Amino acid sequence: MNIQSILSSLGVESKNSGAAIGAKWLTTNGNTISSFSPVDGNLIGEVTAATEKDYEDCIRSAQEAFLDWRMVPAPQRGEIVRQFGDALRAKKEDLGALVSYEMGKSYQEGLGEVQEMIDICDFAVGLSRQLSGITLHSERTQHRMYEQYHPLGVVGIISAFNFPVAVWAWNAAIAWVCGNVCIWKPSEKTPFCAIACQKIMSNVIKKNNLPEGLSCLVNGFADVGEMITSCDDVPLVSATGSTEMGRKVGKKVAERFGKTILELGGNNAMIITPEADINIAIVGVVFGAIGTAGQRCTTTRRLIIHESIYDDVKAKLVSAYKQIKIGNPLDENNHMGPLIDKDSVNCYLNAIEKIVDDGGKLVVPGGVINGAGYDSGCYVKPVIAEATNDLNIVQTETFAPILYIMKYSNISEAIEIQNGVPQGLSSSIMTNNLREAEAFLAHSGSDCGIANVNIGTSGAEIGGAFGGEKETGGGRESGSDAWKAYMRRQT
Ligand code: NAD
Repeated sequence: MNIQSILSSLGVESKNSGAAIGAKWLTTNGNTISSFSPVDGNLIGEVTAATEKDYEDCIRSAQEAFLDWRMVPAPQRGEIVRQFGDALRAKKEDLGALVSYEMGKSYQEGLGEVQEMIDICDFAVGLSRQLSGITLHSERTQHRMYEQYHPLGVVGIISAFNFPVAVWAWNAAIAWVCGNVCIWKPSEKTPFCAIACQKIMSNVIKKNNLPEGLSCLVNGFADVGEMITSCDDVPLVSATGSTEMGRKVGKKVAERFGKTILELGGNNAMIITPEADINIAIVGVVFGAIGTAGQRCTTTRRLIIHESIYDDVKAKLVSAYKQIKIGNPLDENNHMGPLIDKDSVNCYLNAIEKIVDDGGKLVVPGGVINGAGYDSGCYVKPVIAEATNDLNIVQTETFAPILYIMKYSNISEAIEIQNGVPQGLSSSIMTNNLREAEAFLAHSGSDCGIANVNIGTSGAEIGGAFGGEKETGGGRESGSDAWKAYMRRQT
């Protein structure tokens, strides 16, 4: 793949400013962010981070843009988002390839991520004609009472490296049709994906003669994220990332009575009962555990298997893991690509050590892969470990392809194990028994934001509200009525 030709087709230079107000790129002189591809270790390019001054310029433009944008009727705002979706369709292959090369996920997943952006645009277009309130009977004669929703203002979006483009779009497309403007602080690990997105949206802004501040970008490290969280002019911060980050962001924004949508870490489990179709279950586990090299918030990290089928499932899994091809994610023959960087590889290695120290047992031991084709030093083998749910390492999200397997003897115990972690994002049960499935979906069942039956934990559909409970942060974004979080309610 020729990365330079992809960048140039997306209108991105290999030395690019990291901050923009619409199509206006600022002369940033903050820290330099060097973006290396985890695929081959090569430098993609350098981006200069936004300074306080750049941030202030963005906020001022965003506030001005908001005054105009909120006056545009919602269906017309939807028309702009429709055009954005079409612009994404035109650049789908290039943007998908950039996502794959800068983040390290497979090209198919890169394309899938761009498709999710397109899908949320379609959803938002429809939503722009359906933003509704309710009418209630008033206790006063000759009066009526109703609740209506108004835009909030500037929405701050802080995103993680593993979905470098889709998470921004999930937030921005909905925020825009609701009448808000957006300022985006992407992950410092994937700045070029963000620049490419900004270029695509800024063309739409220009073509329609809209205020540039409708979409602002501020690349940088956590300090730039903190500019957003501590800024009184940002009434809503939607932050996606680790629970550690969310704890800081949540506190900071709450101190100034801002609103948050927090989309944080997961520790997702699948239960396999004796009444499951084992072949479907195995496919679901393998895809959920090793897809995106275990770097999805919804990755399957724990497998809770009934004791009567434990040995059989374990043997089938070990055999399936032997067939996994690891290598360049742009090569469609490979099933698993690299981790994002060497820090991540170290976290993976530390976790393996800890499994053994904590008393777990490695069934598929993993390890770093070296040699030709693996020059970035970021390729690792997936791990399966036998462990109990109470181990410290099992209670923690390690953002790598490590799967813990454990036994249960009855369905209540399985659900208790599934719920027995601090996080609450995604969950799944594999069973053809309706009673077991219903027990899992009942209020006394899975405590997660997402509960699946006979599909794995990973992935999500944009039509539903996406998010999780407990240390996952409680936020909901994307479909259903998640839009209400982007508006203020007036009675
Ligand atoms: P991270 O927490 O390291 O960083 C996420 C973003 O937060 C980055 O842009 C970073 O610069 C910024 N940030 C960090 N500290 C900050 C602070 N104090 N103030 C403001 N901004 C700050 O996460 P990551 O390594 O990029 O992503 C992996 C994590 O994200 C995993 O825990 C994963 O589960 C989670 N994630 C969750 C979801 C979800 O929807 N629940 C989706 C994707 C990823």
